[in-house]
Amino acid sequence: MSLSLYNTLGKKIEPFQPLREGSVGFYGCGPTVYNYAHIGNLRAYITHDLLVRTLRARGLTVTHVMNVTDVGHLTGDDDTGSDKMLKSAEERGKSVLEVADFYMKAFFNDTSRLNIAQPDVICRATKHIPEMIALIKRIEANGFTYAAGGNLYFDISKFPSYGELARLKLNDLPNGVSQMDEGVKIARTAFDGNKRNTGDFVLWFTKSKFENQALVWDSPWGRGYPGWHIECSAMSMKYLGEQFDIHAGGIDHIQIHHTNEIAQTESATGKHPWVRFWVHNEFLVLDKGKMSKSTGGFITLQDIIDKGFDPLDLRYFMLGGHYRNQLQFSDDSLKGAQNSRKSLLNTLKSIADRVKSGNPNRVDEAIARSKDADALKKGAASKYLDEFDAALDDDLNTPRSLSSLWGLLKDLSIEPTEILAAAFYMDAVLGIKLSESLQNKAQSPVDDSLKAEVEALLAERAAAKKNKDFERADAIRGILKERGITVEDTPQGAVWKKI
Ligand code: AMP
Ligand code: ZN
Repeated sequence: MSLSLYNTLGKKIEPFQPLREGSVGFYGCGPTVYNYAHIGNLRAYITHDLLVRTLRARGLTVTHVMNVTDVGHLTGDDDTGSDKMLKSAEERGKSVLEVADFYMKAFFNDTSRLNIAQPDVICRATKHIPEMIALIKRIEANGFTYAAGGNLYFDISKFPSYGELARLKLNDLPNGVSQMDEGVKIARTAFDGNKRNTGDFVLWFTKSKFENQALVWDSPWGRGYPGWHIECSAMSMKYLGEQFDIHAGGIDHIQIHHTNEIAQTESATGKHPWVRFWVHNEFLVLDKGKMSKSTGGFITLQDIIDKGFDPLDLRYFMLGGHYRNQLQFSDDSLKGAQNSRKSLLNTLKSIADRVKSGNPNRVDEAIARSKDADALKKGAASKYLDEFDAALDDDLNTPRSLSSLWGLLKDLSIEPTEILAAAFYMDAVLGIKLSESLQNKAQSPVDDSLKAEVEALLAERAAAKKNKDFERADAIRGILKERGITVEDTPQGAVWKKI
């Protein structure tokens, strides 16, 4: 096993070895479902998917757990501001659960369009309140909490290694954490008068925070709801055990969310380290600056589809940057990725045509052969396959892995079936649907005329539905069906595919 990953805990690239031979427990912080995901959020989930696919390609069994936050996440990660879910429900005139259900569906629709594999366990916070209460009781029994103003707080001064992940330093000021090393100031300015230390955080809220909280549960500390951080500790341990291999999220989670998760978990279990590897992706930024769900300036996957891009153009674009580097998004850079993916698929298609001219079944043979890594690596494409694996082993270096794919496709000295098989092997990790694109023209930008025709018919169908002309709308669905196109209506509009 030669995979190495940058571990935020310790701040260096380390060889990865799972705790239990052959299997990996992986927890990636999931979405707060009060709005659509923006493409920055989607960068985080593409990174998780890439990591999971790489681990699986190394022969490991991965249990991928993702939470869905549908309660308790305030607009400020440090317990300031208002409840994101409640605010969204009030703005939309819906119940909190309706909002959560709607955006959760929209989220998994986005991830599936980006070919992000579904996590093995998807756990909703509201379905795990007893687990959170049980964990808070353990933290309390070990002496790390205090009650004030109706809330139960975690006292960071009782946990000496607090802030190790973010390299925060506890100092001797009465308000606890006030500075970090490397000259970075901590952004915890808002002061809650109940807190003994500025960095203390709420484990359980009662009526003290919001009188009209929609979702509340009975607990030993009063009727209320959990703080955000506790859900990830409780749910990850439920599904992966008290110590596990990898925890991931965006870099914004290092200072507060993940730091607090570690403090509360280790103070309950007494086991260190709770998680062996902490993997954090850098941000996707707009040329204008930061993208953020709560400030409203964000781009969704549907926005870019509406501009004529395929979701896989965005995936390809993201793979073009290393996950630990900031990635700057613009329509032009996405256009560049679209063109490159188009030319990749055209090159692949011409190789497939050469393969098929001998025997049409040989594409299927290449797909089968791509699954036998050992045999493949003894063949003519071995140089590219080794380079490809080495790039990913080097802290998931996707830009280098894409160069190996391109090198392979351009090497005329290799027999075409062997090229196809090696490309499909690479795609098991890259996830840009190479074999599907050969079988399913509608998914591929190669066939632009069909795409334009389908989009026009769908626009006509949407207009017919709007005018309540359901007969015409059904007729259009029939026309599409005859052409082998199925249509699924989603919250973001109609999604089609060629069968
Ligand atoms: P949230 O739903 O706000 O908790 O965010 C979901 C995930 O997206 C978290 O892992 C965040 O760290 C990550 N994230 C938020 N904004 C960005 C961004 N602009 N670029 C990359 N990742 C982000
Ligand atoms: Zn989390």
